[in-house]
Amino acid sequence: MRSVSIHCTSCGQKIESKEAVFRCNICNEPVEFEIEGLKEAKINDGNLLTQTIWERYADFLPFFDKESELSLGEGFTPLTNLKKLSESIGIGDLYIKNESQNPTWSFKDRGTAYGIMHARKLGYKKIGTVSTGNMATSVAAYGAAAKMETFVLVSKNISPEKINPIAIYNPHLIKVEGNYGDLYFESLEIGKDKDIYFINSDVPMRVEGSKTIAFEICEQLNFKMPDYVIVPTSAGGNIRGIEKGFREFKVCGLIDYVPKFICAQASGCSPIYNAFMDGSNAITRVDNPHTIAHAIENPYPPSGNQVLRMLRNNGGIATAVSDYEILKAQALMAEQGIFGQPASAVPLAAVIKLKAEGFLKGNENIVCIATGSGLKYTAALDMQKLYSVECKIEKLIDFISKNY
Ligand SMILES: *Cc1c(COP(=O)(O)O)cnc(C)c1O
Ligand SMILES: [Zn+2]
Repeated sequence: MRSVSIHCTSCGQKIESKEAVFRCNICNEPVEFEIEGLKEAKINDGNLLTQTIWERYADFLPFFDKESELSLGEGFTPLTNLKKLSESIGIGDLYIKNESQNPTWSFKDRGTAYGIMHARKLGYKKIGTVSTGNMATSVAAYGAAAKMETFVLVSKNISPEKINPIAIYNPHLIKVEGNYGDLYFESLEIGKDKDIYFINSDVPMRVEGSKTIAFEICEQLNFKMPDYVIVPTSAGGNIRGIEKGFREFKVCGLIDYVPKFICAQASGCSPIYNAFMDGSNAITRVDNPHTIAHAIENPYPPSGNQVLRMLRNNGGIATAVSDYEILKAQALMAEQGIFGQPASAVPLAAVIKLKAEGFLKGNENIVCIATGSGLKYTAALDMQKLYSVECKIEKLIDFISKNY
């Protein structure tokens, strides 16, 4: 028999509530769904041109119904095998899961769609998020598609390059002055008070949405598991979801083992890596975070402690890479035809670093999650070495003959 419940990831208490629950009321750690009866679950076959990821993987989700379904075609993203690059680095197969191929160009759309479905099911009329980047764009877009009142809380000093692609979807867009880190917890209170379903970085439904990344990888690799999956990590919702997805496929016998996870952070903001290296059970806030990979610049990730617990159960590790290494990896990825934003290049930078350090021996098969599109943050291009030349039209043929 299938049953769904929600538990605290730390103290384990089972939480009964008719409303949405986002964190544990006892220890304030993240909560997550537990689905029992997964043994009978199966992937629903269908026409991939019309099927949604929600229909396909419905058996593996806490709930699915057609009335509350919302989709802009998120998911079913490519898994690209980079043969040349894996040879030159000296590892086994190297795959990029290209999440830039989502409706708002990042993986966030998976969790947003599923979060809104949940909000609708529970009868909420309003949704919201706290974000200055991809989550804000995603929630604004899906909120518009769902015709729900949508609140997006951003920090006061957000740049035009970031705010305009949120504003185009016309949400209630509020620039908030004050400590941005506190806003996450503040929004949970506001949500309770004003009946706004806040789809923040690591809420349970976002974690459930990210499971579909794992499901797709399993299918794309014909259920032959890689050794490692590397995820650029900020709040921690995405890496938690992907790992949970693999674990649930193992429970129902679709795969033999769960790959090991590598939580990849930027060295200018690496609270999870720091705690992992210290052997600590709890993260410490990072002062003055700074990295080119803004999408993973969270100094106090709300799922940080749970990611530590997950890594230790999984046998995985955490690592951190510099901005220089990130930019180099971004350029290398572009050489293979994939243009990701700096955060997207962090897993590849981690592969190169871990090989150089000898952690990777050379035969491992690896999946890197490229989380968002390079067009999200073109300011990073100012830091790349980019070339072009000029020539008059009458001289063009000579020019090409002489120079190339
Ligand atoms: C949100 C985001 C991340 C981090 O995901 P978390 O779930 O917060 O750990 C990484 N890369 C990109 C491009 C993102 O937008
Ligand atoms: Zn708890």
